[in-house]
Amino acid sequence: MHLKIKFYLIFIFLFNSILYSQHEETDSISYYNNLANIHIKKNQYKEVFFYTQKAINYAQEKANTKEQAIQTAKLGRLYYNLKKYDDAIDKLTESIGLFKTLSPTPEYAKAYYYLGLTYIEKANLAAAETCINKTAAISKALQLKDNDNLILLQKAIINRENKKYELASAQLNTIISKSDAPNLIDTKAEALYQMGLIEQQNNRYNLALSYFNKALNLNAKNQNSEQKSHILLAISLVYDKMLDKSNAYSYLKLHLNLKESLAIANNEKLGINDYEAFKESQRKINQARINKKKKDQERTEKFSRLINYLSVALIAILSLLSFSLYKINIIRKKSNLLLQEKNNELIIAKEKAEKASNARADFLSTVSHELRTPLNAINGITHLLLEENPKKAQLHYLSSLQYSGNYLTAFINDILEINKIDSNKIEIERINFDLKKLLLDIKNSLNEVATKNKNEFILEIDNAIPTHLTGDPIKLSQIFMNLINNALKFTKNGKVSIIAKLKSLENQKAIIAFDIIDTGIGIPEEKLESVFDSFSQGSTEINRKYGGTGLGLTIVKKILSLLGSEIHLKSNVGEGSTFSFELALTVNEQQPEQAPVQENIFDLSKIKGKNILVVEDNKINQMITKRMLENREILCEVIDNGEEAIEVMKNNKYDLVLMDVHLPGINGTIATEEIRKFDTTTPIIAMTAISLNENREMLLSYGMNDVITKPFIPNDFYVILSKHLAN
Ligand code: ADP
Repeated sequence: MHLKIKFYLIFIFLFNSILYSQHEETDSISYYNNLANIHIKKNQYKEVFFYTQKAINYAQEKANTKEQAIQTAKLGRLYYNLKKYDDAIDKLTESIGLFKTLSPTPEYAKAYYYLGLTYIEKANLAAAETCINKTAAISKALQLKDNDNLILLQKAIINRENKKYELASAQLNTIISKSDAPNLIDTKAEALYQMGLIEQQNNRYNLALSYFNKALNLNAKNQNSEQKSHILLAISLVYDKMLDKSNAYSYLKLHLNLKESLAIANNEKLGINDYEAFKESQRKINQARINKKKKDQERTEKFSRLINYLSVALIAILSLLSFSLYKINIIRKKSNLLLQEKNNELIIAKEKAEKASNARADFLSTVSHELRTPLNAINGITHLLLEENPKKAQLHYLSSLQYSGNYLTAFINDILEINKIDSNKIEIERINFDLKKLLLDIKNSLNEVATKNKNEFILEIDNAIPTHLTGDPIKLSQIFMNLINNALKFTKNGKVSIIAKLKSLENQKAIIAFDIIDTGIGIPEEKLESVFDSFSQGSTEINRKYGGTGLGLTIVKKILSLLGSEIHLKSNVGEGSTFSFELALTVNEQQPEQAPVQENIFDLSKIKGKNILVVEDNKINQMITKRMLENREILCEVIDNGEEAIEVMKNNKYDLVLMDVHLPGINGTIATEEIRKFDTTTPIIAMTAISLNENREMLLSYGMNDVITKPFIPNDFYVILSKHLAN
């Protein structure tokens, strides 16, 4: 079974023309293929392997399955030729696997054919038969007639090996009977050789020799050394059987010589080291490929694992997120509900607070109003008693009473003021005034207090301050009076300075900085804030020693905040205090109608003998007012209601009317309104225990000329009377 057949050359001749005319689709594959073929011709198999493998790799890289199959089959055939049958089986099987995925081609048939040859070499006749049958089927389907003789030859060889001599002989004779076409010489020679083997097997040695010699003759035409070597050996063996030792020896020698030269040639084709090196490099490449595949797989696995982890993490995060959103939503709903409830509670609380604030304001208003009438009686009677030459001991008591009365009056007035500010009952006026004159007047009115405490009293006004300004001089007076009064009160043998400086003047807006500086007792640091709170005094001793209600600074702070400013206080105990604030006042070009300064003195001669109508329902007040007027030699008539007052006024002439506001029946305001319908000249002065809803402007609007608030300071009472009686 040691057949050495070089049929592959025929196949190369048959197929190469088809292959590379149609498949030069990639330059690189055909380039490597050509290089390999060049080296085949030169018998340089190391290079042949190298370039064929390159072609395979390239085709694989480019996913060109057909080229990969063709080049792999080629490598298989190369192995077969070099008698590396196991490798040939590997490669050819691999290439057939690739061809199977494609539509049938001549190369496919060729791969099966060579696999068949290899299996014959490996004595695996069943596998060989299958492969040859496959070759026949594919060739038939592709109508490749040229393959028929080769296929038939291989079938015959297999049959012979299987001892089916008759069938084999018939098949071989078919080939032998063909003409000696050049491309059939090898096949025919092989068929003759195979016939010889059958005859030898049947012990017909002469016949066998005859076939072998015919084969040898035909072989001589083609110089197929491999074939020749086999035939020579076969002849030697037949002679040996025929006991012709001499011939047997000479043919064996011929055979051995040829075999040796063939072996040398074969080794020249591919050095055993080269082959091993190539195999090793292939093994390495394969290993590298497997490793790469493994790594890729691992990487893919890692990646998919990572993706899995990420997905799980993402899902977890999303779940957490939606859970927390859900929770937040619930919390939000709850807190919304809570907020709603709190809101409702707050609305109720606000309403309650407003009610409470209103109730407090009403209460304070009522209390202060109700206190005024009896207080007026106390003040008035004290005044009257003091005027009636009291005894020395009585004088002391009466002075104390007068002090207490005055204190209470101031206190009630302050409470009313704060109450008004807090109830937003205060309106800021915008009238023309002369700031310098206002400050000078205030200073003059307080000179007495300064002298009493032996204080140097200075007023410094920046000349740059415009003379005419627009603002609320009454509120400003309140501020200055309180601050300067305090400064003078809490300073003895020291210095009190009122300083006004122009800070800026832009777009008719003057910013003026005021400082009220004293060198008095000072305020401890911890009290600097609280002195502005209601009823807060430095200490009880201070209160006892200096008097005061503890409401002055509260009023100052509140008025300043109404004017859009704030007060600053710097003080050191024993060194003095500085109260500072700034005011923005509009500059005015017009001459202000300066209200005449209220003199605190009155001319007795002016009021003496005048005739006054007193409209007052309270008996005590009637008595006090009457006495106070009579004490100054003023004539007076007292009536206790508004209706009567109107009637009296119609029929009589008075120099002045003192009209109580709160009267039984019609009010003093309504009565005045009625009187003004027929008498527009007689001065009517309102006397009122002023309340939260009353103010000077409101009363004047009914036609009254002035207002005396109860409880009144007797001197102020006379001053106002003299002012209106003078004309
Ligand atoms: P009072 O009517 O008691 O003066 P204020 O509100 O005007 O009420 O002042 C509150 C307290 O601040 C005072 O009792 C006093 O202790 C302190 N105070 C105010 N001004 C001065 C000042 N110029 N020097 C020292 N202490 C002052």
